[in-house]
Amino acid sequence: MTAHPASGRHLVVIGGVAAGLSAASRARKLDRDLRITVLERGPVISYGACGLPYWIEGQVQDREDLLVHSPGFFRNERNIQVELNTAVTEIAHARRRVLLSNGRELSYDRLVLAMGATARVPEIRGIDSPHCFQAHTWEHFGRVQEYLEKRQPASAMVIGAGFVGLEMAEALRMRGLQVTMVEAGPHPLRWHEEWLSRRIRERLGQFQIDLHTNYRAEEIHEQGLDAMPAGMVVVAAGIRPETELAQRAGIKLGRSGAIAVDEHLETNLPGVFAAGDCAETFHRVKNAPDWIPLGTTANKMGLVAGANAAGRRERFPGVAGTSIVKVCGMAVATTGLSPSGARQQGFGAVSARVTARSRPSYFFGEQLEVELVAERRSGRLLGAAVVGDRDVEGRINVMATAIGSGLTLDEFQYTDLCYAPPYATTWDPVLIAARQLRNAMEQG
Ligand SMILES: Cc1cc2nc3c(=O)[nH]c(=O)nc-3n(C[C@H](O)[C@H](O)[C@H](O)COP(=O)(O)OP(=O)(O)OC[C@H]3O[C@@H](n4cnc5c(N)ncnc54)[C@H](O)[C@@H]3O)c2cc1C
Repeated sequence: MTAHPASGRHLVVIGGVAAGLSAASRARKLDRDLRITVLERGPVISYGACGLPYWIEGQVQDREDLLVHSPGFFRNERNIQVELNTAVTEIAHARRRVLLSNGRELSYDRLVLAMGATARVPEIRGIDSPHCFQAHTWEHFGRVQEYLEKRQPASAMVIGAGFVGLEMAEALRMRGLQVTMVEAGPHPLRWHEEWLSRRIRERLGQFQIDLHTNYRAEEIHEQGLDAMPAGMVVVAAGIRPETELAQRAGIKLGRSGAIAVDEHLETNLPGVFAAGDCAETFHRVKNAPDWIPLGTTANKMGLVAGANAAGRRERFPGVAGTSIVKVCGMAVATTGLSPSGARQQGFGAVSARVTARSRPSYFFGEQLEVELVAERRSGRLLGAAVVGDRDVEGRINVMATAIGSGLTLDEFQYTDLCYAPPYATTWDPVLIAARQLRNAMEQG
């Protein structure tokens, strides 16, 4: 694309990954004349952080394979200026200016905040030891890889059994290390139901990954963590929204601690939008703001923030909180609310869980476990979980569509899902679960 003369109106985007680049690209599509600058404090933009554990595992050959587009692509093809290694240090909204780490200032008319999240660093003595690593950014994973290659440790400790901790434990195990995990909460993926956590524990056990729950790490030393020996330590103790810059500029946070936005993803400062992991999103089942830091949400929020920064008035419809994670070959997927989550939200919830084959056994059908949750009074579907080695993603996506659209069990239970032996069974596991849930509701 050829550069157009600057119209004078300037959109500045802070953060050059999922939300920021989606916003910048959408704004460009809608307004050819807008001047657009993306500021990124790190050395790269536009990369799939989600693929980094698989680079450590060896499934992704080259870390560069995770780079989607270069700054040159954005400059030449989209007429978007990208400045790398440039942090915004202050937002002076009264003057419509951002101050940069290199001492410059940039003026803006509209601003999109897409600063993402930062890794939580727990207070553990020795956490800055040379064999202890964070696992959140491009650079963090680079350091992990370098250490693995140079030092070839025989064992590793992973602190935190959330999504990234589980992915890293599997990656290191697949590289042949002895892996131990410690988790401060009572379960891996602590917000999940207990039965799901049990499946995860069983699977970790099959891969000889030791998991210690209700365990607070105290000290990292040369030989490992506390009394447990380890050649390296990976800290994956969760993340928090990156909000300091916004707070200093007078931008309000929501109850979750992430930046509060309205349905157009605008903050309390007019003309300042926020998207992705730094911001709250809207949970369609809870019917309330929520913080759900996921790549798929960040991309979609970015599109809406970018459109509105370019002068549109689009509404972000919210999410159902759908996620999937691979745990030693097993997919664990959820959407909406779990039975206990639904009760916490004040729903009179009923649930049912079934085990059923995804395909006939003569076509290598896998056993899937499916749990569905509905509101007793209205029959509205509230949540689903699907676990299995294969064929999980399609099922959870069907449920995400049904739950996100507010379908009731009555409306869902005869959904016309496909069937042929190589792909499915006559009664899909999610429909079997729906029948079971119907029985549970009828039994009161
Ligand atoms: C290891 C890993 C695996 C993941 N796996 C999955 C997965 O399987 N599925 C899924 O849905 N999600 C996954 N995620 C989450 C997903 O990557 C994030 O939700 C997504 O990247 C959020 O996008 P974002 O643009 O909001 O923020 P980020 O990707 O965090 O980007 C924000 C950018 O802003 C920059 N920045 C921050 N402050 C400033 C400043 N002051 N000035 C300039 N730049 C600044 C940061 O350097 C950063 O590059 C994973 C994340 C990690 C780390």
